[in-house]
Amino acid sequence: MQPPQPLIHPPHCVVGVIGGGQLGRMLALAARRMGIRTVIWTGGLEAPAVEVADEVIDLPFDDPRALESFRATATVATVEFENIPRATLEAVAGHIALHPSPAAIATCQNRGREKQFLRDHDLPHTRSIHVTGGDSLAAAMREINGPAVLKTADFGYDGKGQRKLRGDEDPAVVWRAFDAPAGILEAWVDFELELSVMVARDANGRTAAYDPAENRHRHHILDVSIVPARVDPAVAAEATAIAIRVAGALDYRGILGVEFFLTRSGRLLVNEMAPRPHNSGHHTLDACATSQFEQQLRAVIGLPLGSTRLLTPACMLNLLGDFWRDEKTPPDWSPLFADGEACLHLYGKRRAIGRRKMGHANLLATTAREALTRAESLKEIWLCSNH
Ligand code: AMP
Repeated sequence: MQPPQPLIHPPHCVVGVIGGGQLGRMLALAARRMGIRTVIWTGGLEAPAVEVADEVIDLPFDDPRALESFRATATVATVEFENIPRATLEAVAGHIALHPSPAAIATCQNRGREKQFLRDHDLPHTRSIHVTGGDSLAAAMREINGPAVLKTADFGYDGKGQRKLRGDEDPAVVWRAFDAPAGILEAWVDFELELSVMVARDANGRTAAYDPAENRHRHHILDVSIVPARVDPAVAAEATAIAIRVAGALDYRGILGVEFFLTRSGRLLVNEMAPRPHNSGHHTLDACATSQFEQQLRAVIGLPLGSTRLLTPACMLNLLGDFWRDEKTPPDWSPLFADGEACLHLYGKRRAIGRRKMGHANLLATTAREALTRAESLKEIWLCSNH
């Protein structure tokens, strides 16, 4: 049980953030602007949030000294990524309020539990089967009988731990190469497009959803988010309603990302949930009345939620490591700065390895199409100059 959470106003609170990645960094920046202090618990991992936090605990998540000092410093706590041991979450929540709750985070942490939750609440989702070995994979492949994706149950994001199967592979060989104790086999969805909805839910169960974003991926990593999504208003309304139902069913407090596939027959299927700010909500920093990071702080502290109104169409372009000329040399920013409505956000990461997320740019425009066109042209300049 979490202790009751009194309403705290800045500057009389210290928000403890478990995790120190770029989401923690942007959360800490939003907190700074609002006069709220933050303590970042990095887990001992490289942490872009450190340089903007008020206090840092740079120790692993299972270190008792770290837990002690986090609980002593933070007034209220939240997470900036979901792959945190359940024991750590419970140990924090036993002493200070943690939002979202450990139970809600645990549901989103594991693909098996996530699917079970969606089934239990009659929420539309992709068909999947839990697999734990070569034999169960063989049975699942027979049942799905067609193209599918094998995904690790834990620690999966940005397409990591995923393999697409045609359906005619040898299950024993596939399982041997699959480096995880458990997974899910999910039917391949021939989708029209991908959407996501960011929804905030406060202490009283009031919700505020942002306009759905239309997401395109490159090498399984989010490439661009286009807002508003170019879908029928009825589809946008249905996605929003489903995201609000998910938040309610999780008894959620904080900001939640719900990702969807829109099938070619017009059905919306929940792909996955993120119990934190999400990459597809980064446009809210420049294009909405309240950013997803401020919204998270408001929900966690106990302030009323802010308006989610979209002030302008926008396209968020992820700045991945492959835009960098080499590990230490960023792309030529001059085309970005020549665009008077491109907002640059860099995460302060020192080395651009592979397709690491180094930052993002929000392109503001009078239409979503125009914002996308400008994002695509920046991308083309940077990728072409490296090849
Ligand atoms: P995930 O980590 O589950 O969000 O997957 C990353 C990306 O892989 C998704 O955003 C999709 O573009 C693609 N993907 C994942 N699962 C499926 C599926 N069942 N059918 C088609 N594409 C998928």
